[in-house]
Amino acid sequence: MRLADLHEDLAYASMRMDVINGSAQSSISMLRSFDYAFVFAAVFPRAGARGVGKTVRPALMGLLLEQVRFYLELERAGLVNIVRRRGDLRPGVNLLLSLEGADALGDAGDLLLLRELGVRAIGITWNEDNRFASSCMARRDYGLTSEGEELVKLANELGIILDVAHASKRTVLDVASASKKPVIASHANAAALKGHRRNLDDEEIEAIVRTGGVIGVTAIRETLPSPTIQGIVDNLKYIGEGFGWSHVAVGTDMLGIDETPNGFEDVLRVSELAEATGHGDELWGNPLRVVSESLGDR
Ligand SMILES: [Zn+2]
Repeated sequence: MRLADLHEDLAYASMRMDVINGSAQSSISMLRSFDYAFVFAAVFPRAGARGVGKTVRPALMGLLLEQVRFYLELERAGLVNIVRRRGDLRPGVNLLLSLEGADALGDAGDLLLLRELGVRAIGITWNEDNRFASSCMARRDYGLTSEGEELVKLANELGIILDVAHASKRTVLDVASASKKPVIASHANAAALKGHRRNLDDEEIEAIVRTGGVIGVTAIRETLPSPTIQGIVDNLKYIGEGFGWSHVAVGTDMLGIDETPNGFEDVLRVSELAEATGHGDELWGNPLRVVSESLGDR
């Protein structure tokens, strides 16, 4: 059994629960039940309750380091393999470190630091606008700024995958046209099935597809046409049948959501999505293709 999941919030959740041996939504021990698990492990530098107040940038960088260190310690304990280069997958649990939101960065050059830390994917925004781009919550959608363009260029050069989950429409279109490598939306659904600020309309999906990227269909209840496993299947089919099965994946957001969809209580249920769609090979293989086209050899 193989699992590819473009978004799980292991480090952030580890501050309040046991994500190593726990049995809620996802944990290292649950992931170990797969022959191969390949998970984009979020680094989500946010202080306190979500959406409350702002944290100054140096403090965000501190939180970022703390969460990267958590993953490095998992690796040192022999519990996971951290994917740093193409072809780096091993039996067991493989994590690709993925920064959710670029708010902690002072400028694009900070990517040089992140790369040394092992970070291989970056979400350009979370739910707040930043110096690089506007977010899905933007009141005025300015898209990618010139600093954002630098970020895209350097990420391409350094082999860091660009993620437009949480981005505004203009940001999605701008990043897709600026990037020379596949772009992902690690955890988002189709706006055609459910109008929601976090969801992607057909033009955005098309733009991501043109980069050779993938959309990770997600388990966030509010973004689904119905808060059930069927709602997830409906999204997979909508994107797979309408835009090509080479461009769809799963990005559960396990441990980052308060409540899972009915019938989709934990990460083990991802296997049922493969059965329901008959496209398990693509759900596993598409993220691997993006990684091999994006990451470097060291
Ligand atoms: Zn998110």
